[in-house]
Amino acid sequence: MTNSPKPSKRTLTAKVLSLARPHLAKLLLGTLFLGGGAGINLLFPELLRRALNGAEFDRLLQDPWPLVTTLAVLVVAQGICFYGRSFIFMVVGQAVVAKLRRDLYENILLREISFFDHNRSGDLVSRLSSDTTLVQNAVSVNLSVILRYTLQVLVGVVLMALISIRLTIAILVALPILIILSAFLGKKLRKASRKVQDELGQANVIAQETISAARTVKAFAREGQDIERYGMIINHSLQHGVVRSRASALLQSVASVLMNLSIVFIMLYGIHLLNTGQLSSGDLTGFMLYGVIVAISFAFLSGTYAEFSQALGGVERVFELLDSSQHEVVDQTKRTLTLPVSGELEFSAVKFAYPNRPEQLVLDQVSFSVRKGQRIALVGPSGAGKSTIAQLALGFYHPLSGSVSFDGIDLRAINLHELRRSVAIVAQEPELFSMSIAENLRLGREKATLEELRKVSKQANILEFIDELANGFDTQIGERGVTLSGGQRQRLAIARALLKDPAFLILDEATSALDSENEALVQAALNELMKDRTTLVIAHRLSTVKSANLVLVLEHGRVVQRGTHTELSSQPGLYKQLVERQELGALRAA
Ligand code: ATP
Repeated sequence: MTNSPKPSKRTLTAKVLSLARPHLAKLLLGTLFLGGGAGINLLFPELLRRALNGAEFDRLLQDPWPLVTTLAVLVVAQGICFYGRSFIFMVVGQAVVAKLRRDLYENILLREISFFDHNRSGDLVSRLSSDTTLVQNAVSVNLSVILRYTLQVLVGVVLMALISIRLTIAILVALPILIILSAFLGKKLRKASRKVQDELGQANVIAQETISAARTVKAFAREGQDIERYGMIINHSLQHGVVRSRASALLQSVASVLMNLSIVFIMLYGIHLLNTGQLSSGDLTGFMLYGVIVAISFAFLSGTYAEFSQALGGVERVFELLDSSQHEVVDQTKRTLTLPVSGELEFSAVKFAYPNRPEQLVLDQVSFSVRKGQRIALVGPSGAGKSTIAQLALGFYHPLSGSVSFDGIDLRAINLHELRRSVAIVAQEPELFSMSIAENLRLGREKATLEELRKVSKQANILEFIDELANGFDTQIGERGVTLSGGQRQRLAIARALLKDPAFLILDEATSALDSENEALVQAALNELMKDRTTLVIAHRLSTVKSANLVLVLEHGRVVQRGTHTELSSQPGLYKQLVERQELGALRAA
C-alpha cells in the first residue's frame, strides 16, 4: 500500500480542490462573504487615513458621529460576512468529508478478500476517521483562511503601494525569505504529519485488536505488554508530532517576527519621510495600519499554510486507498445462474497460492466434484488446505491454474453476488454482529417474518433459549456475539444459514469441544441443516465422514486419498492413521 510513488504536494492540493468542486456554487457565495469581510477590514485604514489628514481631522474633532456611525455599520456588516463565510465553508467541509467517508468505506468493502490479508482493520478505520478529519479541515477552515488572508495581503499591498511605493518596497524585502522558508518547512510538515498519521493508524490497529479481544488479553495477562506496546507507538507519534509542531511554530514565529520588524522599520523610515515633508501624518497612519493588517494576515497565512501541509499528510493516506482499486468484480453483466440452482461444485486440476505468499503452493492439482444432494467430507491434517478449498468455492480467491465451477459455470464468469446468494457457510467460529438476534438472523434473508425466524430457530435448537430472554429476538448480542455461549453462537449461525436456504452448504465443523448437551444440540441442528442439501464439509467428526458420499483426504494441498469411509478405513494410508489417531474427533462423536 505504501509502495506506490508518493504524490506531489501539487497533486494532493489538486485532489483537495477537486473534492470541493461539486460545492462550487456554495463556495462562490462563501467567497463573496469572505471578500466582503476582507474588503471591510481593508476599508478601516483608508477611512482613518482620510479622517486624520488635514482639514478632515478638524471636522472629525468637531463632529465624530459620521465616522463613528460608518465604522459601526461596517463592523456589523463584517460580522454578517464572517458568519456567512464560516458557516458556508464549514458546511462544505463537512459535506466533503461525509462523501469522502462514504466513498472510502465503499472502496474498502468492495475490495477483494486478499486486500484484507495485508491491510489491518485498525489502520483502515483510522484512515476513515482520523485522516478524513484532516481533509475536512483542509477544505473548510484552511481553504477559507488561505483565501481570506491571501486576499488581504494582496489588496493590502496594493493599497499600501498607492500611499507610498518606497515604504511598500521596504516592507516587501522580507517576502522572499518567508517564501523560501515556507516551501522548506511545508515539506517537512507534510512528511512529519504523514508519519504521525501512519503511527496513529498502527496504534489504532493495536487498540482495535486488543479491545475487541479483551478476554484473550486478560486471559494471557497481557494487559501490561499491550499497554506498553500501544504507549510506545503513541510516543513515536508524539515525537513526530513534536517535529511537526516545531516546524509549524518556527514558520509562524519567523513570519510574525519578520513582518513586525518590517513594521518597526517602516515606522522609522516613515518618520523620516514625515520629517522631510514627503508624507502626511494621515498617510503614515493609514500605511502603518495596512502594514499591521498585512503582517497579521501573513502570520495567519503561514500558520494556515502549516496546517494545510499537515492535512496533506492525511489526504495522502486517504487517496492512497481511493486511487488504488483492486475491487472484487461483482459485475452484474456476468452470467447468472439458471433456476432452480442445483448447487453442483467442481474443482478441476486447481493450483493455488495465496497472493500474499505466492511462493507457497497451498493447493496442487485438486480435482473433485460434488453433485446435487451429495455430501463430501474434507479431512486432513492442520494446514492441508481444507479451508482454502472453501474460500475458493465462495470465489474469494481464484486458482492460479485449473478451474472452479458452480452449476457448470466457471466462477470467474459468474456474478459473484448471485453465487453467494446460493451458498451458505457455517464457520467454526461463526461471525456475528453487534446487532439484535433478529437482525443477525435476517442476514440470511432480509425480509424474513417473525414466524420464519421462529421456525428456523426451532430447527436449530435455539428457540427455547431465545424465548427465555427478556427481549427475545430483539436482544442485543454484543460485539461478535460475546454475550452468547459458543454453542449458542453456532446454533444461531445454523439458524441463519437455514433461513438463507442455500442450494450449497459449506460447513466447517467446530473442533472446539462443547459440553455434551450443547454438542448434541449443535449436532442435531447441523443434521437438520445438511438434510437433502449439497454439502461440502470440513469434517472433524467420525459420524460426519461416515455419512458422507465421498471423503477426500488432503495432505500438503494434494488429494492423497478418496473414497467412502468404509473403503478408506480398510486401506493403509493417511485416512486410516487419522482415524486411528482419533484426529477426526472420533471418540467425541462416534
Ligand atoms: P485447519 O484444519 O488447521 O483449519 P486447513 O487444512 O483448513 O487447516 P488452510 O486454512 O486451508 O488449512 O491453510 C492452508 C495453508 O494456507 C496453510 O499453510 C496456511 O498457513 C495458509 N493460509 C491460510 N490462509 C492464508 C492467507 N489468508 N494468506 C496466506 N496464507 C494462508
